[in-house]
Amino acid sequence: MPFDLEKIVRPHILKVKPYSSARDEFSGSAEVYLDANENAFGSSSQEINNRYPDPLQWQVKEKIAQIKHVPKEQIFLGNGSDEPIDLIIRAFCTPGKDEIIQLPPTYGMYQVSAEINDVFINNVPLDEHFQIQTDKVINAIHANTKVIFICSPNNPSGNSVSVQSIETILRSFNGLVVIDEAYIDFSSQPSFTQRLAEFPNLVVLQTFSKAWGLANLRVGMAFASLEIISLMNKIKPPYNIGGKTQEAALFALGFAHQTEAMVQEILEEREKLISALEGAPGVIQVYPSDSNFLLVKTTNAHGIYNALVSKGIIVRDRSKVYGCEGCLRVTVGTPEENERLLKEWNKIS
Ligand SMILES: *Cc1c(COP(=O)(O)O)cnc(C)c1O
Repeated sequence: MPFDLEKIVRPHILKVKPYSSARDEFSGSAEVYLDANENAFGSSSQEINNRYPDPLQWQVKEKIAQIKHVPKEQIFLGNGSDEPIDLIIRAFCTPGKDEIIQLPPTYGMYQVSAEINDVFINNVPLDEHFQIQTDKVINAIHANTKVIFICSPNNPSGNSVSVQSIETILRSFNGLVVIDEAYIDFSSQPSFTQRLAEFPNLVVLQTFSKAWGLANLRVGMAFASLEIISLMNKIKPPYNIGGKTQEAALFALGFAHQTEAMVQEILEEREKLISALEGAPGVIQVYPSDSNFLLVKTTNAHGIYNALVSKGIIVRDRSKVYGCEGCLRVTVGTPEENERLLKEWNKIS
């Protein structure tokens, strides 16, 4: 069966007429704007913020289109990646009826968004190398499965999952396959953004929060077919990205070389940190990483975590997470931060 968006979207969503903002109805330029009930006198602060922003963020998307080699009409911008995750679940999954598949251990927001929307969660765990059990995923698909979330590189394990497994799932499933590439800039694998034409059911998520160093801005990106992106635009809150945020993102996009330079440094630091942690007390294994963090299996996660906290160093205790028993997740820091971490870790007995 070929992919048919109209068959998998919630039927009433097709009929929703989107909110039409003043800026949707007139988007040219004029001298007097009395169409949006803004305050024409100005803003209460020194900073000028009295006008509504571009609801579709075209300037930012044009710049992203150049950098990512994806047409601007196939880009959606959200308030972090969490917004597209939620919009996709709301557009495709009928509460109390439909389900998503996720592959634990993985990023927590797929489950949270599904639960908030009363959507069932079908868990198909990754194997002991944190790779996809492809046959099990395909066997888990049934009539009410609407979305499969795949995180690659995966959080919290850090590795990229097999491209072949992802391709098999994309070809075997008539619903949406969402590939969360939050850490793609640190990865040795190519992005799936260059394969949108091949897979009409593919959605790729990326973010400004990691490699770009802009977590404070809250901007996430989704890349997909024109049809899927139009649907997401139709149901999003009209002005979901503030004007100041759009300006800051646009400005940052002019410094792609700076992002690349930081990524290189982070990758070098990651390799140093791997070797050092492999010899550190209580460490059983440092898992292979294609991201800016390391999953470290230890003999006593709780003890190490607390010892580090008492020295003012915070890592993430993932030891209660399925498949991550005994594990801490450590973000690669600056050389000074990593040295401090190692100095304290090496004192633990
Ligand atoms: C950090 C992260 C994100 C990014 O979330 P934002 O809301 O864009 O900050 C998305 N997915 C995964 C797997 C992450 O680890």
